[in-house]
Amino acid sequence: MLISLMVPCYNEEEALPYLYEALCKVMDECSQYDYELIFVNDGSKDKTLSVLKDMASKDERIRYISFSRNFGKEAAMFAGLSSAKGDWIGLLDADMQDPPSLLPEMFSILQSGEVDIVATRRVSRKGEPPIRSFFARRFYRLINKFTDVEIVDGARDFRVMTRPVVDAILSLSERQRFSKGIFAWVGFRTKWLEFENVERVAGETKWSFWKLFLYAIEGIVSFTTAPLRIATLVGFLISCLSFAYLVYYFIRAIILRIWDDVPGYPSLLSFMLFLGGMVLMALGIIGEYLAKTYIEVKRRPLYIISEDNKKDDSADS
Ligand code: UDP
Ligand code: MG
Repeated sequence: MLISLMVPCYNEEEALPYLYEALCKVMDECSQYDYELIFVNDGSKDKTLSVLKDMASKDERIRYISFSRNFGKEAAMFAGLSSAKGDWIGLLDADMQDPPSLLPEMFSILQSGEVDIVATRRVSRKGEPPIRSFFARRFYRLINKFTDVEIVDGARDFRVMTRPVVDAILSLSERQRFSKGIFAWVGFRTKWLEFENVERVAGETKWSFWKLFLYAIEGIVSFTTAPLRIATLVGFLISCLSFAYLVYYFIRAIILRIWDDVPGYPSLLSFMLFLGGMVLMALGIIGEYLAKTYIEVKRRPLYIISEDNKKDDSADS
């Protein structure tokens, strides 16, 4: 039984020694498992790489992968997951905000065989700027409303997964990856552990408000094509309203014989609005096709099988 633990690192020279020490301590407690530690250096500008090299020279179980520049945490996680050899694969941040002390419990839950994933969520956001928490909450509300995957509020990337889950995650070969969504999309039996937010042990967060905002948009755009439909809806509404306006003026003029001061104004206005609405609707229709194309282009698998009692038989035939 081999466990791979992978850690994305970007400018984490100060945090890494703490993390390594904590991981060694925890893994010593779980001596029934072999393990490897995979550190992905995401183009750090500080001495992260030399710290990793130093650690790797002293410990055989350490593997490091270093990117040529900063490609972002998503890319680092993908690299780590695709190079992990373990039967179980764990994912955690370098800054100790994902407490390694939870790992033994996570392993023992996986060991029971009742679930395929042990994931974690923060129940508090203390120590985080309130404005960031506020927008984070709104984001989860929005994305869960518009997408058919359920993304748990406060879910961390901190999780341990079995091999089939990781293979499923890697089989989603889309370029623009939004892991929180992908993790939810692949399904599998998941057990959620909760913990209180911990502040990072050293260094500082790599996520500015702006970066998070863009990430949120990325998440919504990757998992729903609903925004492309907005044009159809708005266009339809405008056309209907302008038509109603036209009918109203028509009745007023013909039946009630009330004339406007400026002749031609109501009809002109309603025609213009009607046409505007039609144009918007046409845009929306294009949006629908674009949405379909977008979904096709991602080439996500149609389904993911978690169990099949005669898998090898069907492969032979
Ligand atoms: N990270 C990364 N590439 C980046 C940004 C972050 O690999 O471009 C890593 C970082 O080293 C850390 C994890 O992703 O291990 C989470 O980052 P951070 O702690 O800054 O985020 P926060 O906990 O504030 O959300
Ligand atoms: Mg952090």
